Amino acid sequence: MRRLNESELEQATPRERLAWAVDRFGERLLFTSSFGAGAGVLLHLWSEVARGLPVVFLDTGFLFPETLEYRDRLVELLKLNVEVVRPAVGREEFLRENGANIMEFNPDLCCDHNKVDPLKPYLARAEGWVSGVRRDQSAARASTPILLPTEEGPIKVHPLATMTAAEAKAYVLEHAIPEHPLVARRYLSIGCAPCTQPVAEGEDERAGRWAGRGKTECGIHTALRPRS
Ligand code: SF4
Repeated sequence: MRRLNESELEQATPRERLAWAVDRFGERLLFTSSFGAGAGVLLHLWSEVARGLPVVFLDTGFLFPETLEYRDRLVELLKLNVEVVRPAVGREEFLRENGANIMEFNPDLCCDHNKVDPLKPYLARAEGWVSGVRRDQSAARASTPILLPTEEGPIKVHPLATMTAAEAKAYVLEHAIPEHPLVARRYLSIGCAPCTQPVAEGEDERAGRWAGRGKTECGIHTALRPRS
C-alpha cells in the first residue's frame, strides 16, 4: 500500500488512516476502546491493520455486565490483545469515600477518578492515540478532525471521523461483527451503567449519556488540549 501523507488523510478510508497511524507511531500508538455500541468497527480494523498491538480497555467498575461479556466475545472472535486498566481506588471504596450517588451530583469528579486518571500513564508515553469518535455522533463531535495535535504530546487520530452511522452499520453487517447486546434496546452509546440510558428515535446517539446532567463527555477525549 502506498504511504499516505497527512494532507491525504481526510479523503482516505478509515483503514488507510489507521494503517497510516500504525506506520507512523508503531508501539507508541495507543488504542482505547470502550467495547460499547459501534466499537466493533474500529476493533475489527485494528485486528487486521494492527494485529497484536494492545487494545486498552478501561474497566471503571461501573460498566454493564453485557459490556464485559461483549468484550470477551470480541476478544475471542477477533483475537485481540486486550490490556485492562482499572482505577487506583476500586468501586466500593470510591463510593464509601464520595457517596453512593456521586455520579449524580458530581459526575465530573467521578469521571476524573474512574476514567481520566487511570489513562494518564498511557497518554504520557503515547505519541498517537486512536479512538472511534465519529462526527455524526453528536453536535459536540461534528467538527472532529482526522488528526488533532495536542499540547500534552500525543496526536489524536480519528480514523472513523467521516464515517456515518449508516456506513458503520453496513461495515458491521459486511464483516458479520456482533453488535453490543444493549443496542437492540436502543442504547446507542454505552458507557457506565449509572450514566447511560436508551435514546428515543431521532435523538443523537449520545443523548442517553449523563442525560439531564448538563454533561456530554466524560473528559477522556477533552483532557488533552488541542494545539493551536
Ligand atoms: S460515566 Fe458515570 S459512573 Fe462512569 S465514571 Fe463517569 S460519572 Fe462515574
